[in-house]
Amino acid sequence: MNLNQNLGSRNGLFSITLAWGLLLVAGTGAPLAAAQTAPSRPNIIIILADDLGYGDVSCYGASRIQTPAIDRLAREGLRFTDAHATSATCTPSRYALLTGEYPWRRKGTGILPGNASLIIDTQCLTLPAMMKKAGYRTGVVGKWHLGLGGPEGADWNGEIKPGPLELGFDASFIIPATGDRTPCVYVENHRVFGLDPRDPLQVSYGQPVGDDPTGKDHPELLKLHPSQGHNQTIVNGISRIGYMSGGKSARWVDEDMADVITKKAVDFINQESAQPFFLYFATHDIHVPRVPHPRFAGRSPMGARGDVILQFDWSVGEILAALERRKLAENTLVILSSDNGPVVDDGYRDQAVEKLGSHQPAGPWRGGKYSIWEGGTRIPFILRWPARVKSGTSEALVCLIDCLASFAALNGLKLAPDQAPDSVNVLPALLGESKTGRHQLVEHAQTLALRDAGWKYIRAPKESGSQLYDLISDPRETNNVIRQVPAKAVEMRGQLEAMQNAAGTRIPVAKPGANP
Ligand code: CA
Repeated sequence: MNLNQNLGSRNGLFSITLAWGLLLVAGTGAPLAAAQTAPSRPNIIIILADDLGYGDVSCYGASRIQTPAIDRLAREGLRFTDAHATSATCTPSRYALLTGEYPWRRKGTGILPGNASLIIDTQCLTLPAMMKKAGYRTGVVGKWHLGLGGPEGADWNGEIKPGPLELGFDASFIIPATGDRTPCVYVENHRVFGLDPRDPLQVSYGQPVGDDPTGKDHPELLKLHPSQGHNQTIVNGISRIGYMSGGKSARWVDEDMADVITKKAVDFINQESAQPFFLYFATHDIHVPRVPHPRFAGRSPMGARGDVILQFDWSVGEILAALERRKLAENTLVILSSDNGPVVDDGYRDQAVEKLGSHQPAGPWRGGKYSIWEGGTRIPFILRWPARVKSGTSEALVCLIDCLASFAALNGLKLAPDQAPDSVNVLPALLGESKTGRHQLVEHAQTLALRDAGWKYIRAPKESGSQLYDLISDPRETNNVIRQVPAKAVEMRGQLEAMQNAAGTRIPVAKPGANP
């Protein structure tokens, strides 16, 4: 079956997709006390923050700011302490979440410019395509950053495809790349949202286009100055990476972004609640530029970076409140996580460094965004599903890449070996029924590292530079023991190479043409 033929056809606007439906299916079934039998299939919401560190929320140890909505989710759910993104930056991490494939298997999965082509094969069984196959309505709201359009890129003034709708989402309202990259517009389904065709949008990552001022030439026009790069077209008083012109009526206002996308996510919940739904809500917060709405500006003692953490917490609270209003909270599986570790100065002079104080964005872990240390990929990960999952904490090793195989298992779907080849079914761990998740995980930044229970092997191009850490006794990765335990390093290097030479790691499959 050509899955895409079935998946690409439903592309109605959010506003017209479904009228209010009967609220008889998920979430309104048996009360908790009667949940001895398996509850009906849960709705699933993944709330994915951007660059939110392990230590950035109070239930993971932050004390200079409080995140009550996230803390509540943790109190009522399962809080994981060894959960990871595959990668220490946005694009590869999100690629892995949606495809179940390690991003380092593919060229072109690094951080993308805003005019990149879609990097996911539309024939691939993606997370939304799998959920759709399982009978869910599927939606994405928020940051995309996986490219749009075919090899020539997106037609910003026409139909923008392929994109989310061709990968299995029924409805889509996205920030095409990142907040700090052009084009600074939202895309709803196949169209730029709010675009006036008389003012066509142009986007360039080469030569400047149009006559909008740039941060480089007109710093006097900026309300937020770059600390590095970020000096091209000015939109809303903030200079970006990349150029754009036109599309004035469609340009976003950074201060309103959390409100706009949170409302879209809540609209999706309201409109789709007649049947099981899957919502991927990828917030812009807490990525740069950090431009909180005035009601959050100055609310934290940590400058804009702290303010947008509070703003993110507000978004989470709005989602939880929407579920409660529709009486869906009981049977909705909510995962809250982040696409990679934290960064303090990420290109704008927003006082994040000056006002950080004693706050530790990565919590106890070394490093952060871009880094192969644990702080690069170890992220907050909270799962709440009141009808099924007891609250508590879990030390199981799990990864966002495992959502695909785990949710397939939850729905009784079997994956072929070449589908989501690196996604492992860790459902028992996610549900708190097992203390162990996956046994090994490849972590990815500028190099690769292999986790094997408490061991971590970081590979260097020359083996003499490789490192081995015992995370049980040395969680901060300060004591390289490769000389003391050389056999373990040799074993893990061999395993890592074997994983690279295979086409997948869930079920070892030889690459076509590879030596056995
Ligand atoms: Ca990110």
